[in-house]
Amino acid sequence: MRLRSYAQGEWIEGTGKAVPLIHAVTGETVAEATSEGLDFKGMLEYARSVGGSKLRKMTFHERARMLKDIAKHLMERKEEFYKLSEATGATKTDSWIDIEGGIGTFFAYSSRGRREFPNETFYVEGNVEPLSKDNTFVGRHVCVPLEGAAVHINAFNFPCWGMLEKLAPTLLAGMPAIVKPATITSYLTEGMVRAMVESGILPEGAVQLIVGGTGDLLDHLTGQDVVTFTGSASTGRKLKTTPSIVENSVRFNMEADSLNFSMLAPESAPGTEEFDLFVKEVVREMTVKAGQKCTAIRRTLVPQGMVDDAVKAIEKRLAGVKIGDPRAEGIRMGPLVGMSQVTEVRDRLEQLRRGSELVFGNPDDFEVAAGDKDKGAFFPAALLYCDSPLDTLEPHNIEAFGPVNTVMPYASVDEAIELAKMGRGSLVGSLFTSDDKVARQVVLGTASHHGRLRIVNRESAKGSTGHGSPLPGLVHGGPGRAGGGEEMGGVRGALHYMQRTALQGSPTTLTRISDEWIKGAAQPSDRVHPFRKYFDELEIGETLVTHRRTVTEADIVNFAGISGDHFYAHMDDIAAKESLFEKRVAHGYFVLSAAAGLFVDPAPGPVLANYGLDNLRFVKPVYIGDTIQVKLTCKLKTAKDTQPDQIPQGVVAWDVEVTNQNAEPVAVYTILTLVKRLESAVTGY
Ligand code: NDP
Repeated sequence: MRLRSYAQGEWIEGTGKAVPLIHAVTGETVAEATSEGLDFKGMLEYARSVGGSKLRKMTFHERARMLKDIAKHLMERKEEFYKLSEATGATKTDSWIDIEGGIGTFFAYSSRGRREFPNETFYVEGNVEPLSKDNTFVGRHVCVPLEGAAVHINAFNFPCWGMLEKLAPTLLAGMPAIVKPATITSYLTEGMVRAMVESGILPEGAVQLIVGGTGDLLDHLTGQDVVTFTGSASTGRKLKTTPSIVENSVRFNMEADSLNFSMLAPESAPGTEEFDLFVKEVVREMTVKAGQKCTAIRRTLVPQGMVDDAVKAIEKRLAGVKIGDPRAEGIRMGPLVGMSQVTEVRDRLEQLRRGSELVFGNPDDFEVAAGDKDKGAFFPAALLYCDSPLDTLEPHNIEAFGPVNTVMPYASVDEAIELAKMGRGSLVGSLFTSDDKVARQVVLGTASHHGRLRIVNRESAKGSTGHGSPLPGLVHGGPGRAGGGEEMGGVRGALHYMQRTALQGSPTTLTRISDEWIKGAAQPSDRVHPFRKYFDELEIGETLVTHRRTVTEADIVNFAGISGDHFYAHMDDIAAKESLFEKRVAHGYFVLSAAAGLFVDPAPGPVLANYGLDNLRFVKPVYIGDTIQVKLTCKLKTAKDTQPDQIPQGVVAWDVEVTNQNAEPVAVYTILTLVKRLESAVTGY
């Protein structure tokens, strides 16, 4: 079967000679791929003009809901993908990481998108920057989607996850994508893209697929496009220096080779839970996906005196890992993705053996428990031991992209840190320790060279998500050899597909542009109390100025009685006199409560509940006899997704400023209320 690419809204069969795609277990041809004949320039233009313009009209919340709907559709069809995944040599667990782990990224980005982004087409980032003494000129950052296409070039090892973890932030940001999976496992990516297209949920032009090579695609990139790449460092370097990419300063995110470390801490001796956890994890990371993971543990750092015990324990567990056709019962490790990888991993293992001793596993002599050893791309788990790792460069330089790992001794924590850094930049490092002082030392010593660090002990092991699992909320990527890129990390991941622009102007102008009230901007008031207004009727910036209240000693005494807070500064004349306040002051929480009493409109109305309070600061003390007043300003409105059985509502953030008789602020904060929406605004009638 010749796979098709999805280009400019159509499934197109490539012409010319196709590459056969081989079943990793049986050696049979499962499909063939070629992208010859595709109009690559046309694909980019279609993405920009059709997909991009449709996505940019949607708000973050609409895009987030789209991600969830697609994820649900893909989950319903997951068995199709598991079936296709068998040909990659993946076990059921390996496929789960790729398929359901990938779909999980869509779910995660959907909920983060609705929680952390506004229901807007753009994102206002960070705080307001005061730029003039009189506050008539301020600065603010806004992020808008780039108007180009995102080209995602993926590695063979995660045909689904690799695509989805990049697509989720891209689509959420409002940018269309052209997905180019590694050809060898592209049949699985093709199956998933087909399901996405068939769902009818994606806007036209939002996602296109290239099965096969990229032709002259990269030559037509502009400064509004983005390229993300996962694969080998050599290909990455080549692509990054494509003239169009260099000349147009095209954003290029690279995730390449990584020699990740795992370290057993000095106090995690044999017999401790940490020792056992460490051994288990090292073996798991060697064998899951037959070690074909960018995050797999390649370098295992062990205290000098524990090497024998650690190696023996790892060997014992590895001996129990049955290799074979993953469809058979009891098989824990499948083959590599293809014969070319067998040759490559064998070659890399030979290179590693120049400076290390092979202590477990022999590629010339190993058992395959199920399947045809000659036809499948099987490779045994191989453990090496390097006696002088400070002077031997191979284990720190050579990535054998398979079940291969080198154990290295270290004499001190400082030496272990040095060894970890000899990888010259990695995606992830793990430390097994119950000593938080060691944890701090290793983290601060190695963080500069790592994208993610994971500390495991008996307390965290149960909930731990695993060394090899990048997570949607955390950044994935690493410096130096690992490519210098960064993906995911929640909101950060979407910002890679947006332009951050610094805005400068008056507070009122920036308020109108961003739909978020900025201090110093106009504060119009209305005769109707804001608590009597529905969500949709409230204007950004509209302000209630309350009546005043003079704080008395009775207020303080009563509040102390009700709250039980008899702190000396409120209740003890002598101590208060000696304190920084010099006399008794009202409780801060009394000021808050009194402020609520001033601004609340008590009768039932559209305000459903007080939702919380942010950024509270008591700026000045309130003394007996001071007179306070409140300014309540509608700062930001966020409509909430509600179920049909819920009252349609939104969150309104109010800026609250409590002042004294000299118009000096005494307390500033933001309160959040849940406010009913107008029926007509929700239904459109
Ligand atoms: P490659 O770097 O060869 O390929 C990665 C992606 O780049 C594939 O989609 C590939 O497409 C594409 N590609 C290759 N050449 C070009 C080009 N000239 N123009 C456009 N796209 C191109 O890596 P592989 O996936 O083949 O894996 C090879 C090695 O890379 C592994 O053995 C391993 O060492 C390393 N690797 C590292 C990973 C990591 O994250 N650390 C992940 C995966 C691999 P095509 O398949 O069509 O050639």
